[in-house]
Amino acid sequence: MTKRIGIIGNGVAGLQLAYALKQEFDVTLHHYEDPADIRQGRIRSTQVHFHPAVERAQRMPAVDEAPLIQTIHFSMGAQKLFVGRLAGPAKSVDQRLAFAAGMSDLMRQGVVFRKDRVMPNEIGSLAETYDLLIDATGKAGPLFPFPVEQELTPLQSPQRKCIVGYFTGVSPVAPAGVSITVLPGAGELFEIPAYTEKGPVTILFIEAVPEGPLDAFKGIKSAPDFEERMRATVQQHFPAIEARIHAEHFALVDHGAYLQTAITPVVRRPYAMHDDKLILGCGDSVILADPITGQGCNTASYCAEQLVATLLEHQESPWDEQVGLAYWSRIRPYVAAVTDWTNAMLGPMPGHIVQLLMQAAGDQETADRIAHWFEQPSSAYAAFFQSSERS
Ligand SMILES: Cc1cc2nc3c(=O)[nH]c(=O)nc-3n(C[C@H](O)[C@H](O)[C@H](O)COP(=O)(O)OP(=O)(O)OC[C@H]3O[C@@H](n4cnc5c(N)ncnc54)[C@H](O)[C@@H]3O)c2cc1C
Repeated sequence: MTKRIGIIGNGVAGLQLAYALKQEFDVTLHHYEDPADIRQGRIRSTQVHFHPAVERAQRMPAVDEAPLIQTIHFSMGAQKLFVGRLAGPAKSVDQRLAFAAGMSDLMRQGVVFRKDRVMPNEIGSLAETYDLLIDATGKAGPLFPFPVEQELTPLQSPQRKCIVGYFTGVSPVAPAGVSITVLPGAGELFEIPAYTEKGPVTILFIEAVPEGPLDAFKGIKSAPDFEERMRATVQQHFPAIEARIHAEHFALVDHGAYLQTAITPVVRRPYAMHDDKLILGCGDSVILADPITGQGCNTASYCAEQLVATLLEHQESPWDEQVGLAYWSRIRPYVAAVTDWTNAMLGPMPGHIVQLLMQAAGDQETADRIAHWFEQPSSAYAAFFQSSERS
């Protein structure tokens, strides 16, 4: 008999899982937002999918208009250091557009969608309904209390305030890419070319050290106030970006195109048994990181791929704790590398990394190697911790 899988969550993890699992299993997706609500709602992320994640999302509706991100530009304060080339093109497609299109497409393809906001006390009865329940509820989750992995969870509070707006009126950097400006002690600004339902935008994403000079958006609750504060902050701290702003066109692309949040990173063991039923976690619900390295979607997509591979390997056997352990064993090295690298980026830059960044200013090969960190976090881990393995 075809096994039945329930997925809770319609984000990066939930949608990628539904596309892959519907080939072999009977899939039901639980969600509480409709495509129309998502389209008209607030932005959620800056969602750069580096090339491996772009490849893994091939089954989802393509957004060919999205600008290709080919490079990483890196500046320290006012000093531009290098432009590293990515191995393959990355993309940032507004999740409001991507999630709504993915849901509508899956509905057309016959995946069952259940509209309900699942409550933690419903997890037991829901688990009984399926052969496997997957908690992909993102950072609002998890609904199931998966135990925290203490070794991978060293931080107890947010290390940055995340401040994001999608803007028109900013000329993109050339060659097309993500531009990172680090202000030591104050935080970072990421400039990202992205695509929304209203066309191309430039995302300005500030990672502000709490109470520092970039933590300047407290109490801002309206789009016009946000626009004004972003303009003033860029003017004061990021003159190279200010020089590319066209004042008369500088505006949020829509009234929902800004967000403020702060994240305490936490990694949980992503499997558990509820009576005799297996429950797995995938994405932010179990692997939650600060977005400073732009890895959350990429990790969610990697874990979804590995989850599917684990289930296919055990298709004919019972889905029990051993299958959960097999999934966790597959993803743990990647999760550990991306977690340690990302948490290290939140602290003061280690001396040997500063040296490497300086070296990249005069050496294209080093610059390209640094750009590649974002596509392959294990190489970033190796550079930061001067070790090739993370066990
Ligand atoms: C400011 C910021 C910038 C970021 N930039 C990047 C970046 O550039 N690159 C990158 O890779 N990552 C980035 N991330 C992280 C990335 O957005 C997340 O890691 C990714 O979206 C996680 O996917 P997910 O499927 O786990 O969760 P989500 O995409 O959040 O999806 C979870 C879904 O579950 C649904 N849900 C929640 N609770 C329930 C419930 N009780 N019942 C039913 N449904 C429920 C929600 O409605 C939601 O649609 C960023 C994050 C932030 C905050």
